[in-house]
Order: sequence, then structure tokens, then C-alpha cells
Amino acid sequence: MFENLRRKMMKRMNKRLQDAAKWGSVLPPLVAKKVAESQDPGRFLQVIPASDAEYEVKDGNKFEIIDIETKTCGCGYWTVSGIPCKHAMAVVTTTRRQGYEFVHQYLSKEAYVKTYSNIIHPIPDESLWPEITFNKVGRELLHELQMSQPLTSNAPLFSTVNASQPTQRTADPGRPAAAAAKYSNSRCSYSGVKPSYPCHAGGSSVPGSGH
Ligand SMILES: [Zn+2]
Repeated sequence: MFENLRRKMMKRMNKRLQDAAKWGSVLPPLVAKKVAESQDPGRFLQVIPASDAEYEVKDGNKFEIIDIETKTCGCGYWTVSGIPCKHAMAVVTTTRRQGYEFVHQYLSKEAYVKTYSNIIHPIPDESLWPEITFNKVGRELLHELQMSQPLTSNAPLFSTVNASQPTQRTADPGRPAAAAAKYSNSRCSYSGVKPSYPCHAGGSSVPGSGH
């Protein structure tokens, strides 16, 4: 299932990168459409300049404050969406600038391409994967360590563990007593630390799929 998801994501990311290469504008099509939608209603608003950067824009009975250096408007749309609102576009039109100059950089084509340029690399078929040495006991050890405390030793805890050999463990003084209690199961002849999920005879079951 995860391999299918990985392939799906690999294909999708590549498609988006290829699509972006065909864009003729500096903005993704959806962002360019949003900017155009803000431009039309902005044509009819009155713009009152205070400087080259700050303006008041009259919208009906309200005045919105625009600062094109910080890319903010009193209505809040510009800050939240990254796309200039109709008040900002009124300033853009009046000052004969280009709307894309006021779009947040994270919505640019450049940012889009950077996002999808880190590809997911192909992985060989599962039949060619190296065989790992994890077994049932090793998985339990890993699970308990992950749930209790970070590893502080570089000792090879899992590579040499054999499920056919009895495992003798000592209680860790840093752990709750219950976690180190002996556990035995007559059906799978397992003896060791009680697992947090049902165990399975043979030592190859997936956690949670046992009896
Ligand atoms: Zn606004």
C-alpha cells in the first residue's frame, strides 16, 4: 500500500514540475486568476496617496489603509491570502504597476518549481530489497524503546536477535516495573517482557495481527 502511495506521489510531483515548465507567466495560473479577479473591482475605488508606499483607499463609506512595502491592507485579505485585495489592486492600477509584484513570493512560479524540484526517487521492486534481520523480539524491543526513552547506546540491539533463542532481559531501573515484568504465553511458547500487542508464534507476524 505504501509503495502505491509513494509511486502516486512520485508521479504527481513530476507532473506538477512538468506543468510548471509550460507556464508563460511568473505566477501559477490559479494565482494569476485570483489577481485578475481583484483587479476589476479595484478600478472604481478612490486612491489617496500619503507616500510612494502608503495609501488610503475609499471603498464605499470606508477607508482602507494600504502599505505596499509590508504588503498589508486594513481589510486583511492581502495578509491572509498573499494575493493583493481589490484595495491593493486599486493602488496598482493608479500607480501603473504590475499586480504580480505584490503577490507573496511563496505563491510565485519560482517557489512552486522549487517545491516540486525535490523529486521522489524510484525504488527497486520489493523482491530485490535486502532482507532485514528484524524478528518478533526485535520489533518488540524497538517498540518499547520508542515508547519509553530515546536510545543512549550504539549497541546493535536488533541485528543479532534470533526469535528461536530464548531471550533473557533485565529490568531497566528507569522503567516502570510493569514494563519489565515476566510474561509467558503457552500458545506461542514465548517468554520475555510482556508485549504491548498480541504476539504470534513463529516470530514473523506483524504487530496487531496475532491471536
Ligand atoms: Zn484590502
